[in-house]
Amino acid sequence: MTLFNNHTSDNIFQDFEQKFKPILYQKYPHLSTLHIDCYTVVQYNQQKNIPLIDGLCNDTFAYSIDVTNDGEQNKVFAAIVISPELCESFNFTEMEKMAAIGHEVGHIIHHFNETLSNAGNMMVEIKADEVVAKLGMAEPLKSVLHKLRSSNRYSKEQCQLMDLRIQMLSCSEDY
Ligand SMILES: [Zn+2]
Repeated sequence: MTLFNNHTSDNIFQDFEQKFKPILYQKYPHLSTLHIDCYTVVQYNQQKNIPLIDGLCNDTFAYSIDVTNDGEQNKVFAAIVISPELCESFNFTEMEKMAAIGHEVGHIIHHFNETLSNAGNMMVEIKADEVVAKLGMAEPLKSVLHKLRSSNRYSKEQCQLMDLRIQMLSCSEDY
């Protein structure tokens, strides 16, 4: 059973899978029923009939999920998109990239969490970060957020959300 179908040339997805699949499947059993396609931004934009992702040009990593029903059963499309150029410009380490991937996997996990169906953006981000903390990567995720925060790419609102996420991750021992 594979978690990722990696269409990119970056081995970070296989590394992530090898390291974290057992603990993820143990903590979030429904994840084992999904396959997550991994694309670069360029590859993703070449796909047909896929959900559009808002603000993709500014994202180092993003996720996309779509559930359709063919009359018999639900079919889930799940993808993680990486911008190799932006990751390079932020000089992300392997651990930082893994933490960022964990955050996107967290979004895909919590997409099926009905208690979050009316949750605001902030809560959704915090729940995705909680998954990263459970994988023991709160520190590298904080360092990703610090790097993003100190660039001039993001709006004031986006930066405020990053500040809050950094604070929450700092108490993540409590998760
Ligand atoms: Zn997010």
